[in-house]
Amino acid sequence: MEIITTKAEMQKRAKELRKYGNSVGFVPTMGFLHEGHLQLAHRSIQENEITVMSIFVNPLQFGPGEDFEAYPRDSERDQLLAENAGVDILFMPDYSNIYDQESSFEIKVTKRTDVLCGKSRPGHFDGVSTILTKLFNIIIPDKVYMGLKDAQQVAVVDSLIRYFDFPIELITVETVREKDGLALSSRNVYLSLEERKEAPQLYQALKWGEKLIQNGERNPQIIIAEVSEYIKKNITGMIDYIEILSFPELTVLKSIEGRIILAIAVKFSKARLIDNILIEAEK
Ligand code: AMP
Repeated sequence: MEIITTKAEMQKRAKELRKYGNSVGFVPTMGFLHEGHLQLAHRSIQENEITVMSIFVNPLQFGPGEDFEAYPRDSERDQLLAENAGVDILFMPDYSNIYDQESSFEIKVTKRTDVLCGKSRPGHFDGVSTILTKLFNIIIPDKVYMGLKDAQQVAVVDSLIRYFDFPIELITVETVREKDGLALSSRNVYLSLEERKEAPQLYQALKWGEKLIQNGERNPQIIIAEVSEYIKKNITGMIDYIEILSFPELTVLKSIEGRIILAIAVKFSKARLIDNILIEAEK
């Protein structure tokens, strides 16, 4: 596995790859890799000649008081995991290399962000879109691989790619879970033992909501109230949001119909966890 740490070198490599007609799959991450990240890499390896994974904890997408400083990092372990997974190029630039000029532009996402994490983390998706725009331009991949665990991110990147005409196909990958249902996340290491025991209830709450929809309930408010009650009974963390929206448009629904997302965020003492399920609801 090649490790590249500067954007100049990455751009040079990307040019070479294009010149020789290699298809390039790209897996952007913030590191502290787990099986979820590796599933994205596996999919990319299957579908492309070259897989580039990036590891960059992007300060622009963290708000004041969020966990940028405390975000878990382990570069050596990440390198081993990426190499064993079969990643061809690991791009690990540092902050001063990526943001090497005074900022003279701002990317402002104006749709699909007034709900879910966009609402509780103002500016988050502006930061995500800025770093991805830079990484897309540096790597120029054919395909980018993203997890549905961060479904709003998928919705925003889908529109980023189309709006700015990036010649990149967005490939989404199902959420990878622990055996007990907890969605894998780098932030899970910050759960206390007690919180870790109750965290799988997040997924159970989503499954309960899904069951109600499958049984014919079409009123979003009723489902949200039921899921909220379930969480309050089983989880000590604080609910940040529970929402039902159309997907990927992320619009509020009067009645549940078509492809929808049921999403929740819960704040534990040190970690804020998110999870969601996508449901195809018949009329
Ligand atoms: P992150 O390092 O948290 O920025 O995540 C990098 C990529 O991995 C994003 O596209 C995430 O959606 C994806 N990802 C994170 N956790 C999971 C998971 N449990 N299952 C599938 N994909 C995931």
